[in-house]
Amino acid sequence: MIRSIVITAVATLTLATGATAQQGLKVYISADMEGVVGAVTGDQLGPSGFEYGRFRQIMTNEVNAAIEAARAMGATEILVSDSHGNGENLLIEELPADIQLVRSWPRPLMMMEGIDESFDAAILIGYHASTTNTQGVRAHTISSASLTAVRLNGVEMMEASINAAIAGDFGVPVVMISGDDATVEEARRIIGDVEGAVVKWSYGFHSARTIMPEASYALIDERVRAALGRLDDFEPYRMEGPIELEISFKNYMPAELMAYLPNVERVDAHTIRFTGRDMTEISKFIEFTTSYSVGVTP
Ligand SMILES: [Zn+2]
Repeated sequence: MIRSIVITAVATLTLATGATAQQGLKVYISADMEGVVGAVTGDQLGPSGFEYGRFRQIMTNEVNAAIEAARAMGATEILVSDSHGNGENLLIEELPADIQLVRSWPRPLMMMEGIDESFDAAILIGYHASTTNTQGVRAHTISSASLTAVRLNGVEMMEASINAAIAGDFGVPVVMISGDDATVEEARRIIGDVEGAVVKWSYGFHSARTIMPEASYALIDERVRAALGRLDDFEPYRMEGPIELEISFKNYMPAELMAYLPNVERVDAHTIRFTGRDMTEISKFIEFTTSYSVGVTP
C-alpha cells in the first residue's frame, strides 16, 4: 500500500520534469546482492546465513521495482541476470511472466550474460564497491577471497565498470546503479554520470546505516524512471581494443600457474597480464581464471 502511493507520486514527478517514456525498449538488469537494502554481512548473502531467505525476497522486490519502472518507461523486453553467489537467489515465481532470467554459473559474459546489441540500456541492482575501495559494504571484485585488483587498460576496475565495459562493447550504456554510497560514488567516478540509488551508507566492510526496504523499492523505481527518461544522455562505456587486463591475486600460486600459459605475462609476484581483442575475450578469461580447477565437476 505505502509503495503504490509512493510510486504514484514519483510518476507525477517524472511527468512534471518532462521525461518521456519511449516505446519498445529492451532493458538488461544485472542483479547482485551485497548492495541490496539492509544487507551487511554473510548472514544475508548466502544459503548458510540466517537471514538469507528474507533477503532473497528483498533482492527480488528490488529487481521487481526496477522491472516495473522500466515497463512504465516503455520497456517491452527485459532480461534479468541473477549474478550473486550461486546465481540462484531471485525467487523465480515472483518475477513477472513476460521477462526472462539468466541463472547459475559459469557463463562467458559473467554478470552480463545474454546482453547483445539489441538492448537499449543496462541497469545494475544491488551492486557493491571494488576490492581496491577502502569504503563500502562487502567491497570486493569478483572473488573477495582471491583477487586484490582488476585493471582494464590501466584503470582500476569494480564489477560495475567491468560489466559496463562488456555492455559497452555491444553499444549498450549502463544507465542506473543501486547499492551503498561508496558503490554509487565509485561507479560514477569510473563509468560517468549514471543515475544512482543509494540504499545504505557504509561504515565499513560489515556495517552500514540503511534505509528501509519499502523506501528502497521506491527509490529504485524513481531512479530507473529518471535514467530511462533521459536515455539519450548516456554513452556506452567502451574500452579501446586490444584490451589489457591485469589481475592481482591475494596468493602467489595462481599468478605463477597462470603465467605458464603462452598468452599470459607475469607482471609481478601476484599479478598477471592478458591482452584480449574485445570484452568477450576478457570476460571469458576472467571467468576461466576464477572458476577453473582440475577438480571441477561435472
Ligand atoms: Zn555478489
